[in-house]
Amino acid sequence: MSIIVNDLVESYINELYNSRNDFLRKLRDDAEEEGVPIITKDTEGFMSVLLTIHKPKKILEIGTAIGYSGIFFASLIPKTQVVSIEMDDNMYLRARENIKKSGMTDHITDLKGDARNIIADLDETFDMIFIDAAKGHYTSFFKESLRLLKPEGVIVSDNVLYRGMTASNAFLIKRKRTIVKRMREYLAYISNHPEFETAVLSIGDGIAVSARKVEE
Ligand code: SAH
Ligand code: MG
Repeated sequence: MSIIVNDLVESYINELYNSRNDFLRKLRDDAEEEGVPIITKDTEGFMSVLLTIHKPKKILEIGTAIGYSGIFFASLIPKTQVVSIEMDDNMYLRARENIKKSGMTDHITDLKGDARNIIADLDETFDMIFIDAAKGHYTSFFKESLRLLKPEGVIVSDNVLYRGMTASNAFLIKRKRTIVKRMREYLAYISNHPEFETAVLSIGDGIAVSARKVEE
């Protein structure tokens, strides 16, 4: 059951969904069966439109898992370069393998380590940053990757509504209290950021889109 999107609406939207290719279809099926938290179908649909409009040449992804979203971004926009960071050894190795199998090796650079350390060592700039890792650290991911964002860059943060828990204590599981408190602080922070226009959307597990304001 989804708290964020009505179940009937969600299953209707999911019926309209088409996988981009057989490789991604299988990777999604395997991930969903195993419970690897890859982007949901409706989030993927939204991202495909956003990427088609924004046409990012370089994307920084924080949180690779098994490589699904990174491979999806790279196969959607020709010539896009994705740099993706993952700190879990097992996930990192699986992502490597999947990237190889997908034929996207030339378009994806997978880096292993804690994103907070890796970001500090990067010196290239990106048109889009996709934050999809430890939910308690979104504010530091955002602040630390900001210097890598191009002037007209967009930051997308996934899972910001965290099964509805961010929106209401009615859904809160006690042991998630600290993470949820931090996520609320993050959403307040980006919603009031003087340099960005931010929208929090009830798609998938909740996504926030932050675009740099147009200067006068
Ligand atoms: N973007 C993927 C899903 C990522 S799931 C997709 O949609 O296909 C989140 C991943 O972030 C997990 O694999 C977890 O190990 C990783 N992660 C969590 N905290 C991290 C950190 N501080 N640095 C790098 N990776 C992190
Ligand atoms: Mg996610």
